Amino acid sequence: TTDYDLLIVGSGLFGAVFAHEATKIGKRCLVIDKRSHRGGNVYCEKIEDITIHKYGAHIFHTNDKFIWDYVNQFTTFNHYINSPVTLAKGRLYNLPFNMNTFYQLWGAITPEEARAKINVQIDRFGVANPANLEEQALSMVGKDIYETLIKEYTEKQWGRKATELPPFIIKRLPIRYTFDNNYFNDTYQGIPVGGYNKIIDGLLEGTEIRLNTDFFDDRSYFESLAETIVFTGKIDEYFDYQFGELEYRSLRFENEIINSSNFQGNAVVNYNDATVPFTRIIEHKHFEFGKQPQTVITKEYPESWSSKKEAFYPVNDKKNQAIYKQYCLMAKDSKVIFGGRLAEYKYYDMHQIIASAIRKFKTEYCETK
Ligand code: FAD
Repeated sequence: TTDYDLLIVGSGLFGAVFAHEATKIGKRCLVIDKRSHRGGNVYCEKIEDITIHKYGAHIFHTNDKFIWDYVNQFTTFNHYINSPVTLAKGRLYNLPFNMNTFYQLWGAITPEEARAKINVQIDRFGVANPANLEEQALSMVGKDIYETLIKEYTEKQWGRKATELPPFIIKRLPIRYTFDNNYFNDTYQGIPVGGYNKIIDGLLEGTEIRLNTDFFDDRSYFESLAETIVFTGKIDEYFDYQFGELEYRSLRFENEIINSSNFQGNAVVNYNDATVPFTRIIEHKHFEFGKQPQTVITKEYPESWSSKKEAFYPVNDKKNQAIYKQYCLMAKDSKVIFGGRLAEYKYYDMHQIIASAIRKFKTEYCETK
């Protein structure tokens, strides 16, 4: 017999939800994480008594009442609504594209005026079968919105020309003909009061966890500890990169403490222009309607990735998808349960990760035992 029923590699949301579900039915779990803290990318820390989302701003949103109730077991959410603004050539515009934006762009006052403006440009610049991101955007929102608010930001974010990016990156570009700055369409939205750590602590209560512990430092020892392994790290690393390395886009975060109670008046301000090296500034206190005397801001710089950096966004082009498919076939043949954003090489929002962990726990663990 083994020491544990389950070894869970990674204490991010996927691993923590999986551990919680397994512990609930009496399974003995060991969670390991190579970082010095639990929670993966939702981990928060305090600076000047302000909650900082260490790996980028995280806003919880979902339409699924079950998932909303699930996270609310562990903490209380505030009523934060994400309403970013973007700075382009010295002017501020509301996001997502809505009547406020159209007024700021063209002085359009009625939905009819705005619609007419956009449709004329789509007719003139759009193409039937967009072959790249630029053509896709021109076909969906026309030239003014694309050139003023999309092109430079997107090129900075991906480090490539819009004409060299695949069209599906912006498959959905929501346009609203109402004065509605709420970025997400979901029924439930908010930020956990005090940050995400309480959710992770709640999920992992009663579960043994070892931090600063990398699975690959002693793979055979860890494999011998438990009957079942749940792996939430990088799938290419798990299979020794035998089909090549999967590529990511990385981010660098620069924090500054500022001696002012309010730096930018909003939690999220995007910087559209190519001349500014960062894509956005996060002012964390506004996520919590904070009244602290000082403020902490984070500049977010997109960066090319190397294996020494944090992997943030998968690069979903043909080359990487083809490599991932090969790893996926190997994963299907193994007894290990692969889950989460790194093992599935996929961008997931938090609510999707929770749903996926609960589903995989049922289908890939419970139903096979
Ligand atoms: P992770 O959180 O990455 O957890 C994986 C864990 O495994 C890590 O702790 C890692 O250290 C550990 N690990 C990896 N390899 C090993 C190993 N070999 N040995 C031991 N441990 C290992 N979602 C939203 O819903 N709203 C948002 O606003 C939002 N904003 C985001 C902003 C940014 C910049 C990014 C990058 C993501 C954002 N997300 C957002 C998505 C959210 O971060 C993810 O859905 C979630 O964190 C994924 O959880 P995970 O468990 O799959 O991965």
